[in-house]
Amino acid sequence: MASLFEYPIEKLKGIGSKRGELFRKLGVCSIGDLICYYPRTYEDWSKYVNIADLKAGEVCCVKAVVTAPPSDSRIAGGRIITKVRLADDTGVITATFFNNRYIKNMLIYNCEYVFMGKVHSSMNRLELVSPEFAQSNRVRAIRPIYSCTAGLTTRQIEASVAMALQMLPESIGESLPQSIREEYELVGYSRAVRDVHIPPDSEALSQARKRLTFEEMLVMSLGLFSMKNGRKSETAVDIKQDYTNEYIKLLPFTLTDGQLKAINDCTNDITSNKYPMSRLVQGDVGCGKTAVAAGVAFTVIKNGYQTAFMAPTEILAEQHYNSFVKLFAGTGVNVGLLTGGNTTAQKRRIKDAVVTGACDLVVGTHALLSDTVEFYKLGLVITDEQHRFGVNQRNTLVEKGENPHLLVMSATPIPRTLALIIYGDLDLSIIDTMPPGRQPVDTFLVNSSKRQRMYGFIKKHLDNGRQCYIVCPAVEENEVINVAAAEKYAQDIQENEFRNYTVGVLHGKMKAALKEDIMRRFKSGEIQLLVSTTVIEVGVDVPNATVMVVENAERFGLSQLHQLRGRVGRGSEKSYCILLSDNTNPETLQRLKAMCQTNNGFEIADMDLKLRGPGDFFGLRQHGLPELKIADLGNMDWLKKASCASETILKEDPYLQLPEHRLLQGEVKRLFAKVGQGGFN
Ligand code: ADP
Ligand code: MG
Repeated sequence: MASLFEYPIEKLKGIGSKRGELFRKLGVCSIGDLICYYPRTYEDWSKYVNIADLKAGEVCCVKAVVTAPPSDSRIAGGRIITKVRLADDTGVITATFFNNRYIKNMLIYNCEYVFMGKVHSSMNRLELVSPEFAQSNRVRAIRPIYSCTAGLTTRQIEASVAMALQMLPESIGESLPQSIREEYELVGYSRAVRDVHIPPDSEALSQARKRLTFEEMLVMSLGLFSMKNGRKSETAVDIKQDYTNEYIKLLPFTLTDGQLKAINDCTNDITSNKYPMSRLVQGDVGCGKTAVAAGVAFTVIKNGYQTAFMAPTEILAEQHYNSFVKLFAGTGVNVGLLTGGNTTAQKRRIKDAVVTGACDLVVGTHALLSDTVEFYKLGLVITDEQHRFGVNQRNTLVEKGENPHLLVMSATPIPRTLALIIYGDLDLSIIDTMPPGRQPVDTFLVNSSKRQRMYGFIKKHLDNGRQCYIVCPAVEENEVINVAAAEKYAQDIQENEFRNYTVGVLHGKMKAALKEDIMRRFKSGEIQLLVSTTVIEVGVDVPNATVMVVENAERFGLSQLHQLRGRVGRGSEKSYCILLSDNTNPETLQRLKAMCQTNNGFEIADMDLKLRGPGDFFGLRQHGLPELKIADLGNMDWLKKASCASETILKEDPYLQLPEHRLLQGEVKRLFAKVGQGGFN
């Protein structure tokens, strides 16, 4: 099999350079790739609809006899129309084909065929327009549908795949060890790969898919675990003493049990292990992950090492910077800020401080990844809101030290089994307690007929000294237009509805200094009502804000709404979230209503996962994970099995060197080659 990946696709009969190019567009470069190009879905050619029961607009399968020889005629523009009369026991219908002069010879009078196609209504009569067909005694019950591209049809792909499958040797290598195949009752690879393309029946198809799905999940899981093992070279960072008790005294509040436990997990990792820590701290928005990160950073810094803290937006980086400066005042911990918005001179100064060791804790955005940022003694890398970063970016930062410790924080609550896969290279601490006094955010869904009442509601809160957010979603791809829309919205309410209040506006395209100024004025309470794009989605922390309004709420995914809503309910005051939508689609409304029913991030993530599928949800590519061809990460059951199996395998053979694991090792390398990682090198 492996060698088939070395045969370019053009080696197949009928594929020249032009069609080869089209296949490459689909990511199919070799014959091996083609064999792994699994159908997107299938068509059932075994369930026939009676002609008498056909309805316009439906795609149907009809078994019928050709009752008159096909006839050609020419229409305007010289096009040929071929009409064929068909009948079954219940009625007659015409099939119409355009510009296909071969139909005449292919459909033979008095023979029976199966037709698959869309039923159209033309002048009150139904007809089948350009249906696909096959002789009824030769038809396959299930036919594959491939993702195609302009100029390359699913049937052309099907034909090429059939040829490619003939090149597969009978005794093709089996990558799954016998024991695993028996334990999980999986059919052999050779059988599976043939049946997935050319399924003899639905049972064989489901067996084939099960086997290939399992294998793909297993390979992915093995690759991720191996990345973790790959970090198992000893760290040069020597942390002797745990300074958590001293840190606790700096805080204006008492840590929750969940926070303490997470800090302890980390300090245990970094004080007792000779290997670098790789830990994910996960907890719902508002649970206080920043205080955990700061605590671990404090211990590392007190032991003489530096910490790099990377946040996904400038606003967030600035916010963290400001709170660390305050928290660590008088402790000797020197904090610096590095973002793309700094002036060249500022950047130079902070980079100098980082490379000489004068700066102990540098907070920043992607700007930290730059080659020109060098550390004196990097001991700990922290990434906040990890779902916004790729694995590669995280690793770029890590490589700036000598196997430094790594702490990753994420609010995206994901089911544990999925976390095992996606964050398979990390140990996991979950914070499942909220700081005391938090009340759930009451959430309402309203349409714009309630706009005036909503403005009244906001005013009531502003009059009580509270603050509010109004989020205007992106309406266009075009950022300039979105920014203009938010600015106009802010200006509009400032001049009308809220003329007696102070309205501010915040968006991602603002100059850093201006953004900082707006955030500072909002934090201080001077700005009462902040109109913003989704830049405030992650991390922004202003506990006095108690109302969040989301305009056009239907444009957001549930998890994103949950993140947005996390901006309120951060203090002890009762908080509210108002979702505004004039959408009438029942599914959309159901989705938004779900937001009103729960504040639990895990439940919301589960719903989001079901509604949108995992690809969208996690942005797998963004995570730097390979694209999957067949497995659906929403399938928890199999995910769990695959991840168990990979643990068992790696326990016995951590580098997949045993003969029975050699092929698997190759598969892992191949899957991860595209994203430039995956161990076993
Ligand atoms: P997230 O986990 O979403 O990053 P933050 O770290 O921003 O949450 O914390 C949310 C808010 O809760 C902040 O205002 C923070 O000061 C406060 N906070 C954190 N931990 C506690 C605690 N143990 N008791 C009271 N307030 C806390
Ligand atoms: Mg946070």
